[in-house]
Amino acid sequence: MAMLRSLSNLAKFTARNGVFKPTCFQGSRLCSAAAAEDDTGTTFNSDRPLIGQAETMMDIGTRPIFSEEHDMFRTSVRRFFQEEVAPNQDRYEKQRMVDKELWEAMGSAGLLGVDIPESQGGIGGDLLMTSIVWEEQAYVNSAGTAFPMHSDIVMPYISHYGTPEQIEKFIPAMTAGTKVGALAMTEPAAGSDLQGIKTSAKKDGDDYILNGSKVFITNGCLSDVVVVVAITDLNAKKKAHGISLFLVEAGMPGFTKGKPLEKVGQKSVDTCELFFEDVRLPASALLGKENQGFYMLMNQLPRERLIIGVGCQAHTEFMFEETRNYVRQRKAFGKTLGNIQTIQHKLAELKTLICIGRSFQDDCLRLESEGKLDTYTASMSKYWGSDVINKVATECLQLHGGWGYMWEYPIARAFCDARVGAIYGGSNEIMKELIYRPIVASN
Ligand SMILES: Cc1cc2nc3c(=O)[nH]c(=O)nc-3n(C[C@H](O)[C@H](O)[C@H](O)COP(=O)(O)OP(=O)(O)OC[C@H]3O[C@@H](n4cnc5c(N)ncnc54)[C@H](O)[C@@H]3O)c2cc1C
Repeated sequence: MAMLRSLSNLAKFTARNGVFKPTCFQGSRLCSAAAAEDDTGTTFNSDRPLIGQAETMMDIGTRPIFSEEHDMFRTSVRRFFQEEVAPNQDRYEKQRMVDKELWEAMGSAGLLGVDIPESQGGIGGDLLMTSIVWEEQAYVNSAGTAFPMHSDIVMPYISHYGTPEQIEKFIPAMTAGTKVGALAMTEPAAGSDLQGIKTSAKKDGDDYILNGSKVFITNGCLSDVVVVVAITDLNAKKKAHGISLFLVEAGMPGFTKGKPLEKVGQKSVDTCELFFEDVRLPASALLGKENQGFYMLMNQLPRERLIIGVGCQAHTEFMFEETRNYVRQRKAFGKTLGNIQTIQHKLAELKTLICIGRSFQDDCLRLESEGKLDTYTASMSKYWGSDVINKVATECLQLHGGWGYMWEYPIARAFCDARVGAIYGGSNEIMKELIYRPIVASN
């Protein structure tokens, strides 16, 4: 496996072994000669085409939110996914997880913890760079939440709420891919209703004793550190006031993992049950303040929803291009499918739908870059991205006819992988529960 060298200092933009580093960060923004700043200080490169104006939706060099430096980063990320991930995808799916070595290769290539501060042991890039990693994974039809769960959900919990000791222990190792992270909220009897969890951590001197189980945990089998949500105050007036987060490590006595679950899609992502039986946790395993876990979760969930929305959007663009290529070469009634008017109209509808979604998702990325993405808008990103992808997946598979139902055609995998977007990260019904609140707030 080609090992790309670590991006240890993104402040200097250099090309080394094909991996690029941006030169001049200003907070969360990248400098670019072509960039203009609006009055909020946001960089907006108006001379860049929208995806609908480019030859393909996956072209590099499009979208005003990005700069040339992002393009160079994207070029190296694309190469990594094309060379290191795509050729192994079938094998990963059969073994129901990626190789542990892939995590280290991701780390060596500087693709983990991309927007975690360098001072903490992360890469020190910006949010847009980390979104490039989500997108490029989708562009090789390797949809799945394993890497963003680790880099963009678990690592930010530790980065934001961890003690200096916790940060030092976990962040550099997670950036290197030598420790894999997971987040365990869901239980067999509590998913949407997080306050219904039963897993508890009882105080015993300075320690806590953890008991319970979690289900559907992404990266569960390969995890080295799991952020576990547990009840610490059974008598709290509201359940939300009695929930805490813990950093539970693989190998702790009483912590066991189930086998990878058989899923409909995203088969290369390891998803399993976790069991905790009298796991003794030192006080140093508590993440953030005791009984503040629910609020920490609420603060971090918008990011998780954005990841799903943006990931779905990119995967939708992949599906469109795959289908466009197919209808241009598949013949029926003496001509290609692409020459049939009803199919042309279908492609026109799909393209319009996807391009509108892209503009909204890029707005959300811009807001998150500026620290302004609110929970309602993030919920819309997740709801829209994961709803549209399922519509587009159905239409694109239909345009492939019977071949679309065969696993050897990428659209079959894309169709199956897409389904879960409307379920995980908070189901789309729950997203609507959040989105409506400010709509009727004045009533
Ligand atoms: C592949 C995969 C990976 C996952 N990864 C993780 C992970 O890493 N960590 C983790 O903690 N969890 C993870 N999950 C769990 C996921 O977040 C939950 O499955 C999801 O939140 C839904 O919970 P549930 O499955 O218990 O469904 P339920 O809560 O039982 O809901 C069932 C149905 O009822 C609907 N419903 C529930 N309440 C309402 C309501 N108030 N109004 C209207 N409709 C409602 C739901 O929308 C859904 O359609 C994963 C799940 C999957 C499938």
